[in-house]
Amino acid sequence: MRIFFNGRIVLEDRLLDDAALVVSGGKIAEIGPAEAILSRGAIDKIDKVDLKGAYLAPGYVDLHVHGGQGADYMDGTLDAVFQANRAHALHGTTTLFPTTTTGSRACLERMLQACSDARLQWSVRDGARIGGVHYYGPYFAADKVGCHSVEGRRDPVAEEYQAAFDFGIIKIATCAAELPGAEAFYREAHSRGYLITCGHSNASFREMQTAFDAGMRHVDHFWCAMSSVSTIRQRLGAPFQASMEQFVLMNRDMSTEVIADGQHLAPDLLEFAFQMIGPGRLCLVTDANRAMGMPPGKYQFGSDEDGAWFESDGRVGFVENGSLASSVVGMDTLVQTMVRDSSASIPEAIRMATLTPASRVGMAGEIGSLKKGKRADLVVLDSRLNVLQTFFAGSEFKV
Ligand SMILES: [Zn+2]
Ligand SMILES: [Zn+2]
Repeated sequence: MRIFFNGRIVLEDRLLDDAALVVSGGKIAEIGPAEAILSRGAIDKIDKVDLKGAYLAPGYVDLHVHGGQGADYMDGTLDAVFQANRAHALHGTTTLFPTTTTGSRACLERMLQACSDARLQWSVRDGARIGGVHYYGPYFAADKVGCHSVEGRRDPVAEEYQAAFDFGIIKIATCAAELPGAEAFYREAHSRGYLITCGHSNASFREMQTAFDAGMRHVDHFWCAMSSVSTIRQRLGAPFQASMEQFVLMNRDMSTEVIADGQHLAPDLLEFAFQMIGPGRLCLVTDANRAMGMPPGKYQFGSDEDGAWFESDGRVGFVENGSLASSVVGMDTLVQTMVRDSSASIPEAIRMATLTPASRVGMAGEIGSLKKGKRADLVVLDSRLNVLQTFFAGSEFKV
């Protein structure tokens, strides 16, 4: 048993002051008035954590993350997986979804194997837990590959993705909706219960509707590597047609995500996303690459064998033509940015980094909020929302 007290408990919709949170058997056993809990008999034998006025929030959940601290999940080794997972735990993430990129089938399968092994062997010192893999590349649209290696991109290959799905670790699957074979990909992923997402895509509204009918429910990094009215106009001519943007804004069953690192999207876009999409269907994702926690310099996106090169200036990744190459920060920075750059309250910003992503992957019964019966994956934050401590099932993570 362990009792956290004298902190500000971050619930999914409000802050709770003067409360205590009790952990028993790795789960949240009780949340209630501190005075009542601390005045019970036999309390002196229980381990107590004085939060000294800090916030106590649920551990962060990251649906889209490529690596950190020099490692990319596509390196395909156990060391690389744990290295990145430990780095993210220091930034408050307790559950993440290692994300594939474009690359050879052999590279993708090595990554899936490494993540499966890491999940089996996991202990607290290994850092963030793997909730599942996000099968993201290689099925990107040729004109929306972004910073990823073009050689590693292809249209969906049924035999390849069936084999990948059979590893049993994938929980999220991305494919550009306009590709030949996309609908079959979505149907297969849907039958396996994954969160299905459309990304790196120049899909029209109509193509999104077909994808939606096949089970697609999410769009990767809103405004980045996705269609707009003007790109659809270039692709399909007049009359102007709606795009992925309108599809997400109009359809209440769709969710999406923003890379709120303060580098990808200006405050006006973050505020627009918060107002128009809302904390119930907008997730914060780091999309972090291996340059997170590393000095400025040149790094590879994807496998260290055949990944595409990009540069980090210590604030963001970018490629030669000026395009952004995803973030180099942890989830703590994203939560801080949403609070600073949008009208989101602290519970709302944290909900977008916890309960909303957990719900989208069907894990809200287990994690994502501070509620009796859920796993005690916790993060302690100072008044500026910097991470002070991270706990997995009530046990503290230490490097
Ligand atoms: Zn991307
Ligand atoms: Zn990405």
